[in-house]
Amino acid sequence: MTIGIKKVGRPETLTFSERVYLLEILKGLGVTIGHFFRNARHQEKIWTMEYPEVRRTMPERFRGRHRLMKRDDGNPRCVACYCCQTACPARCITIVAGDAKDPAAEKAPVSFDIDMLRCIFCGQCVEACPVDAIRMDTGWFTPPDNSRESLVFSIDRLLEK
Ligand code: SF4
Ligand code: SF4
Repeated sequence: MTIGIKKVGRPETLTFSERVYLLEILKGLGVTIGHFFRNARHQEKIWTMEYPEVRRTMPERFRGRHRLMKRDDGNPRCVACYCCQTACPARCITIVAGDAKDPAAEKAPVSFDIDMLRCIFCGQCVEACPVDAIRMDTGWFTPPDNSRESLVFSIDRLLEK
């Protein structure tokens, strides 16, 4: 296969109407006004949405924002084994383990933070968890925010659905 070069000629001179831009401006305005009236008449064909107030319905298998699962007694199902933190390629999970209230479990997370700005939504944490304590089935991606700090999700926020 050979690759050729196609030379595209440039117009040597601009016409008078092109030099004053007036006709070009009017043509551009015509396109804009055309879109305005078409969208005003057929609003059902506008494909934009008022994000974040309006959320797009995500497919069932979409990997979205994380949530931590709860036991029947309301405590986190997480046993602070650090598997998710170890598996995370973006190093965005930080867990501090403590003694569990439930004698059947050895440990529980004292704190569990996910830095959503670093997360690449790969799902490795979900795959690594041995007790199905973390899921990414919220159907919602990281919401917009004004500060970096508020995008580090703490355990309380992760326990909310
Ligand atoms: S989805 Fe991937 S990058 Fe995000 S917290 Fe889980 S393992 Fe880390
Ligand atoms: S969420 Fe799962 S993998 Fe992560 S520390 Fe808790 S139990 Fe271990």
